[in-house]
Amino acid sequence: MLTNAPKGTKDVLPSQVYKWHYVEQAFADICAKYGFKEIRTPVFEHTELFSRGVGDTTDIVQKEMYTFQDYGKRSITLKPEGTSPVVRAFIEHKSYADVQPSKYYYNTPCFRYEKPQSGRLRAFHQFGIEVFGTNNMLADAEVICLAHDFLAGLGIENVQLRINSVGCPGCREAHRKALRDFLRPKYDELCDTCKDRFERNPLRILDCKSEVCQKLVQGAPMMIDFLCEECKDAFDQVQQNLTSMGIEFVVDPGIVRGLDYYTKTAFEFVTDSIGAQGTVCGGGRYDHLIEEVGGPPIPGVGFGLGIERLLLTMEANGVEIPQPEGVDVFIAVMGDAAKAFGLKLLRQLRQAGVRAEMDTMARNIKGQFKYANRLHAKKTVVIGDNELAEKKVAIKDMETSQQAEVAMDDIIKELTK
Ligand code: ATP
Ligand code: MG
Repeated sequence: MLTNAPKGTKDVLPSQVYKWHYVEQAFADICAKYGFKEIRTPVFEHTELFSRGVGDTTDIVQKEMYTFQDYGKRSITLKPEGTSPVVRAFIEHKSYADVQPSKYYYNTPCFRYEKPQSGRLRAFHQFGIEVFGTNNMLADAEVICLAHDFLAGLGIENVQLRINSVGCPGCREAHRKALRDFLRPKYDELCDTCKDRFERNPLRILDCKSEVCQKLVQGAPMMIDFLCEECKDAFDQVQQNLTSMGIEFVVDPGIVRGLDYYTKTAFEFVTDSIGAQGTVCGGGRYDHLIEEVGGPPIPGVGFGLGIERLLLTMEANGVEIPQPEGVDVFIAVMGDAAKAFGLKLLRQLRQAGVRAEMDTMARNIKGQFKYANRLHAKKTVVIGDNELAEKKVAIKDMETSQQAEVAMDDIIKELTK
């Protein structure tokens, strides 16, 4: 128990962390190109932010949040998603008074009490972006385009962009009614969660992962057929903008996002290469979220992208992530005088930008060479009493086993060549 990580969590070990660094750098780079600035918000927030923001009819708020009371008797929740905290910060710091739109990106851990399986964890990580302050569908296209170019830039080909419109509160009402009428005769067969959704939020039934419910909703009335003029027009514009940008997509009327706050544009990037949890990235527009959380009526659009699922997809697609360089130089020493000299050299090399290592386990010289091999050191410098007396060292190329004699004063120069 003590030495097992909690269910649904994963360590990223040093041998794997380079993959994370790689995608994190790629995401930061593309966000910079698109003019998005990083924002970092706390790991926990007041619970009410999520019950209002994410919506208390969602799975997340109803049964997935890590909520606890702190010693000050406040209800606190570990972030289950990235958008609401960014919205909270935007309001708190009155960033709406700046020139709009506001364009943010983030890289955050998220926590949801879900059933752990491949691509579904309890502690996972998301990249995300948000654009606040514009109603224009150019912003929706820009957000989708960034996600598309990020995935393509990583060499992932096996993903499909699916888009839909989930309408606005105005047109959603008529759809909700039609959907309830359609489902009413099948009510008894719905899963317990969906029975509960029937009154509160029937749209979510379309997104139920249970096979029974998925069958029951076949042929159900779709939101896309109920869009008002404004929403229809907006959806047309998103599609035109994507076409202008040369981005392929399919319209999938079945896309319903898991959070309550979406309006109009909804989209997902889906792959069939990593099993059932194939949605790598999901997002859309949320025109009332900022107001709902207590800010001015300012619209927004963004996405969240699961980093674990991204890495799984890259692996499934055979994308090679370059391994970082190992040790440049290993300093092997024999005797106390050599050790003192070696320590000084070690520091100078590191200061000169060289990845240098020395033994700290009091190994004999044979052991030091073995260790240098284990570290995949490219070169080894050997220093003993003879070398110190002659003011020369041998630099061994570990790949070719060739040795070169170098004057003491030239070591740094030689090794930084
Ligand atoms: P799903 O339908 O797969 O449950 P979701 O609609 O709950 O996803 P969002 O809340 O939109 O997902 O989160 C955005 C992205 O975060 C998802 O597309 C996915 O890549 C990732 N994600 C969501 N939940 C998890 C989880 N429990 N473990 C790992 N990644 C997740
Ligand atoms: Mg989910």
